[in-house]
Amino acid sequence: MRVKFWGTRGSLPSPKTPQSVENCVRTLLREFLESGYSRPDDIDPFLATLPPHRLGGFGGNTTCVEVSTPQQRLVIDGGSGIRLLGYELLKGPLGRGEGELDLLLTHFHWDHLMGLPFFVPLFIPGNVIRVHAVQPFLPQVFQTLFKKPYFPVPLEKIGATIEYYHIKPREPIAFKDITVTPYQLDHPDPCWGFRFDCGGKSYAHCVDSEIQRVAPEELGPDLPLYQNVNLMAMDAQYTLLESVEKINWGHGSAAVGLEIALREGVDRVAFVHHDPASDDNKIACVEEQTRKFYNKQVKMLRDRGRPVREVEWMFASEGTTIEL
Ligand SMILES: [Zn+2]
Ligand SMILES: [Zn+2]
Repeated sequence: MRVKFWGTRGSLPSPKTPQSVENCVRTLLREFLESGYSRPDDIDPFLATLPPHRLGGFGGNTTCVEVSTPQQRLVIDGGSGIRLLGYELLKGPLGRGEGELDLLLTHFHWDHLMGLPFFVPLFIPGNVIRVHAVQPFLPQVFQTLFKKPYFPVPLEKIGATIEYYHIKPREPIAFKDITVTPYQLDHPDPCWGFRFDCGGKSYAHCVDSEIQRVAPEELGPDLPLYQNVNLMAMDAQYTLLESVEKINWGHGSAAVGLEIALREGVDRVAFVHHDPASDDNKIACVEEQTRKFYNKQVKMLRDRGRPVREVEWMFASEGTTIEL
């Protein structure tokens, strides 16, 4: 299974400002010269010394994740990141009106839908787009999305055939070689995470979530979402302090996500849904703070004589791709 993040920003697309790009260029040029480099051949070695976020940042598009195997492709959510995925898909059958695609929706907040009117495969006659959600009012949501005065093209005229599927909470569904099971997350409007299992590998998509339920007994029937997964995408919009200040805002912090990951045997975590109020530097600082918190947690558990299975984790950027 391959998991690719086409959008890692939360709540609202957040493009870099021209001023922030200019500041970044000035800083990098100064560092280049101060490091003793001067020739064009030095550019690549210099850039290789920098962490990736210093170059491109964490990205500005909202949630869209592609889960693919050699047999098929599933897409989670239609945030603004789905626009770029759409251009990529046009190179295949979806560009010729001969394609099929399964789209899973977690919930209907704008940041998870706003890219759909700009997803070009929807406008090509012959394509079949199957949309799956736990929420029963899925067709009405699409009617509203493609409706004047919000969007000029009504749903009946968009070209592709859209099929709606109501999926049941905590009941596995088979998509060729991938089994998907929806579990509930902690969000003000009900939001469903998905566990993907394929050939002994697993991916848990846990966004958006405030992660209010942490203990196994609190998570109850939703605990299997997290258990022994190879990769988990987790909501880390806020710092730990911000998450305490923003109770019931529906988003979590990496510290709480790591507590679950350490306990439940998760191999890797990709933290996403970065706050639009945070620039790339702040996200990198939060990642650094989280590193200190994580190291302390691991040491504390070991000092208490508990077995610790370490977790590999990162704050994901737009374009981050992980093979399982
Ligand atoms: Zn969101
Ligand atoms: Zn939301």
